Amino acid sequence: VHDFEEDFGILKQDILALMELRKDPEWQYPMLPFIGRTLLESNDEFELAANLALYEIEAEEGGKYTSRLYRQVDEVRDLWREMILNFRAIIIRFAGLSAHQEISQEDNIRILHEQILDRLAGLEKLKEKGLLGFETEAALETMQYRARKWYRDYQELKKLRQTNVWRADLQYLNEKIRPMQAQVFNDLHDMEKEMVAWSSRNATKVEEAATKINLGLWALSAIAIGLLLLIYYMLHRLVLAPLARIAETISSEGRNIEDLSLPGRGSREVHTLIHAFNSLRRQIHQRQIALQHQALSDALTGLPNRALLQDRLEQAVHMAHRQNTRLAVLLLDLDRFKEINDTLGHPTGDNVLQQVGSRLLECIGEADTVARLGGDEFAIIVPDTDTEQIRQFVECVHRTIDQKMDVESHRLYVSASIGIAMYPSHGADPMTLIRHADIAMYAAKRNNRPWVMYDASLDEQTVDNLSLLGDLRAELETASGQLQLYYQPQFTLLDRTVTGVEALLRWEHPQHGFVSPEVVVSLAEKTGLIADLSGWVLDTAIAACASWQRHHPDLKVSVNLSAMNLQDPGLPAMIDTLLARHGLEPQQLSLEITESAVMSDPVRAREVLQMLSTMGLELVIDDYGTGFSSLAYLKLLPVNSLKIDKSFVIEMQDDENDAIIVRSTIDLAHNLGLTVIAEGVESPQAALMLRQQRCDAAQGFHFARPMPKADFLLWLTTRQALVVT
Ligand code: C2E
Ligand code: CA
Ligand code: CA
Repeated sequence: VHDFEEDFGILKQDILALMELRKDPEWQYPMLPFIGRTLLESNDEFELAANLALYEIEAEEGGKYTSRLYRQVDEVRDLWREMILNFRAIIIRFAGLSAHQEISQEDNIRILHEQILDRLAGLEKLKEKGLLGFETEAALETMQYRARKWYRDYQELKKLRQTNVWRADLQYLNEKIRPMQAQVFNDLHDMEKEMVAWSSRNATKVEEAATKINLGLWALSAIAIGLLLLIYYMLHRLVLAPLARIAETISSEGRNIEDLSLPGRGSREVHTLIHAFNSLRRQIHQRQIALQHQALSDALTGLPNRALLQDRLEQAVHMAHRQNTRLAVLLLDLDRFKEINDTLGHPTGDNVLQQVGSRLLECIGEADTVARLGGDEFAIIVPDTDTEQIRQFVECVHRTIDQKMDVESHRLYVSASIGIAMYPSHGADPMTLIRHADIAMYAAKRNNRPWVMYDASLDEQTVDNLSLLGDLRAELETASGQLQLYYQPQFTLLDRTVTGVEALLRWEHPQHGFVSPEVVVSLAEKTGLIADLSGWVLDTAIAACASWQRHHPDLKVSVNLSAMNLQDPGLPAMIDTLLARHGLEPQQLSLEITESAVMSDPVRAREVLQMLSTMGLELVIDDYGTGFSSLAYLKLLPVNSLKIDKSFVIEMQDDENDAIIVRSTIDLAHNLGLTVIAEGVESPQAALMLRQQRCDAAQGFHFARPMPKADFLLWLTTRQALVVT
């Protein structure tokens, strides 16, 4: 006992001491002083040096906006600050993560540090030429020294993290508290052994006492029998009779749900029993409700499911009919949700669905119902409304969904297509309303609009699509000239030479007029016609490019491929045949593929891409920035270039976020050895910004619109004449 008390006292002291020590972060994370001494010191020194240099340059060269040197140093300082930001993020995460988990910022730091050294080396060259001022020269030396030292210390820190020096409390726990704990347990064990020995020594004395008690028991038994008779009588009165009543009530249970009332007479136990029974049946009742809820609600989002929606819609239609009001049914389907699931995994997909669910709840009024129909499809019922109100409502829904969404460590841009049908004008019963909302939703998807209100002509369009399909098939066989390729020139940004053209599909239908290439392509994809369509496009584009070679030997042609083309192992051989037939070198053909096309079946797509790359074709990732895959992943593919999507380029001079995305894409792509082309350049400002950011090439309305083959040749010839004169 004495040992135990003593050891327990020590253990308690140790634990209290640890709790006290934990309040001191420097003690708990011994690395903090290290970071403070070395890494932060380097940071201060670097910042100071950069600022001094900038100060001198500004004073000497008269104004920071004109000086190239100023911009160079400023850029180094920016890169540095970004690296430090990444470092801070790491420190915060180091504390919580286990030593072997990878952190994405580590990659960023490595890349940024390489860039910093690279820029400093550039400045070093200027220094050798004697182009730097006194202060700047000194600052450059400091910056070089500090950049290297900082990185070494950072590596050191990463190594230290692998050891248990990282957290002192764990060490304290392992070295002091755990052994003491074991000691205390030992003491307890010893005490137990002592007690067992003591009790066996005393067993004989206990036996003697037992014989005496035995005699007494005989006498007691006689009295007990008498009592039992009495008790039986009482038992019948107080317990058995009331129990029979309860049993009766229980057997009729299920019809009435009111609580059981107490029989007038009865023992305390009977009362307890009735009480327990009441609480049991209340629980059963609640569980029944929960089960009902489960059957009617969606497990992932907790929203009503399809069954409950149907039910509510029936009621709503009934009400609207009686009260002579209108109601709306909205169907909402997320765009490209499959891609999120494929690239980021199902848990992320689930998370997105949950967030969409709660965003929708934010939008709706008390009387409205939001339901998840399954997959990425949601529905909303809005009773007692009109077309104008619904327009406002759907705008609000669209805005709410369209905001960026942080899911785990990803920032996603989720959008949805919405179809609307109104009672009674678009249908008198739930089935028809849902079907028409569905048709409207598909029209929204097809035409790339956030929402579409149902209209009888949409039915015709679905029928139209069928006839369009027949026409497309016939057109591909006869080639009567309705299908054409337009060509849009691409330029280098440095000297504006035309390096190539992108071939873009056009279909002028005799009855329907111009059919957008996206519609043609999706129609062909759905019906297995895509191989023929892409074959026709490749044939036509390769033939055209071959015909230009005599006068413009460097001109390349780019062709867009669809996801399904990449699943076709026969594609490389087909292209090979076409190149040979028209006599075009493989280097003159580039293929544009979107990330989502690769992602739909990465393994197969990679095989096909590998073959194409080995043939010598140039491969370009199209629409870059709209997908969800990382640049690092794309680098695993044998691609040569990235094409930044026009949605970022069109507004880059007004929208800072877009500008940042464009700029960092260019930097990172260059870092990975890829060239960058920007599409959708509509203004001279955008062209200038891209050029300053060292984007390699560009295409867009500012330079030239897509044009038919003959026009393009004329355009090219006059342009050349202009450049020559
Ligand atoms: P994309 O590959 O992103 O093609 C660029 C689109 O941007 C073209 O639209 C082009 O006309 C348009 N564009 C070019 N410069 C500018 C500009 O400065 N501002 C704006 N706002 N737009 C500009 P288009 O011709 O309507 O083609 C649309 C999409 O259809 C293409 O997008 C491509 O994904 C697909 N497509 C076109 N032709 C083919 C084809 O032969 N095969 C396949 N699979 N898809 C094709
Ligand atoms: Ca393209
Ligand atoms: Ca694009």
